[in-house]
Amino acid sequence: MKLSQIGELTLLDQIRKRFKKKSNNIIVGIGDDAAVLKPIYKNLLVTTDMMVEGVHFDLSLTTPYQLGFKLISVNVSDIYAMAGKPLYLLLNIAVKKNTEKKFIDKLFDGIKDAMNLHDTILIGGDLSATKSGMALSATLIGYAKRHIQRSGANVGDGIYVTGNLGDSACGLELLKRIKRPVPLERSKIRKHGAKRKELRDKSKDPMRHAPCAMLLKGLSWNTVEPLLRRHLLPEARDAKKFARYATSMIDISDGLLIDLSRLCSESRVGARIYIDNIPLSPELKKAAVHLDIPPLKLALSGGEDYEMLFTAPAGNKVRAIYIGEIIKSGRFIVDSSGREKPFSAKGYQHFCKRE
Ligand code: ADP
Ligand code: MG
Repeated sequence: MKLSQIGELTLLDQIRKRFKKKSNNIIVGIGDDAAVLKPIYKNLLVTTDMMVEGVHFDLSLTTPYQLGFKLISVNVSDIYAMAGKPLYLLLNIAVKKNTEKKFIDKLFDGIKDAMNLHDTILIGGDLSATKSGMALSATLIGYAKRHIQRSGANVGDGIYVTGNLGDSACGLELLKRIKRPVPLERSKIRKHGAKRKELRDKSKDPMRHAPCAMLLKGLSWNTVEPLLRRHLLPEARDAKKFARYATSMIDISDGLLIDLSRLCSESRVGARIYIDNIPLSPELKKAAVHLDIPPLKLALSGGEDYEMLFTAPAGNKVRAIYIGEIIKSGRFIVDSSGREKPFSAKGYQHFCKRE
């Protein structure tokens, strides 16, 4: 059935029922002209992110479930990057009238799973028809006892990341070769810390199909799946545990070099990072060689990993990966032989030998 056959009011009613969640802090939720919230938090955080068809996503490579999941993850990641906790969500959806209701249901499945994972409540939004294409936008309200900005890095601080880099960009490269959506989902939502293995679903293996198997010959599904997952179903990293000592923080959405450059600009400092310390997953190393792309190129300049990048004064026992230090000025990257070269936001070319 098409959305035009259902009508806006019925759809709104369905949204209201599906996302119903009680909270003592919400006085008025979905259904009125505005939501009413109890002001119990001192410092509120507010962030918004938009995803536009043809610009941020391609429906020939992604499922509606994945789209919905990612929309929430990217917004939650921004709240986590301020050392905050996400609370309330506003959701704006613009789609063509002839969109299948099934598509919207799947989109909401993804949105709901990601919202449950991060404990957020839908409090409102807007619906609109478009003449062509689709646009989604979410606004997330959160709070932080002590927020952490990009601008707090000091000379002498260590620079840390919370996990492997480049996996998402590698997943996208694989997806471009697979050339169709891979129906990975998060049917069993788990909290952080559970083993990745639980999420694997062999029945969804696109490599069963002959053309994929040929294209990605030599790569196993065990290598491909985690990389695709990092791209299609990114999980925002809760940075709460670093809040005690982090001096500055940013989530890596556009690539390490770009986001580190942003942090340096806001903090008015420089940085030196060490190539050998950049964390690369074994899957990335395998797949990148196969794709003939230097893994470091993906790790330094590939976006959408949604790991946190933060700085902390020396002397703290930081449970993250140390990649370098904050210096007075300049941005440098030190290669395996100890040679130091300046980097720009897109300067990976100087550091990667083709493999
Ligand atoms: P108005 O025309 O007064 O702006 P709407 O008819 O757009 O109100 O919305 C009615 C109610 O439904 C509001 O509470 C609004 O926040 C909520 N709502 C509309 N679209 C969405 C959506 N996509 N997700 C969640 N709530 C929505
Ligand atoms: Mg109104």
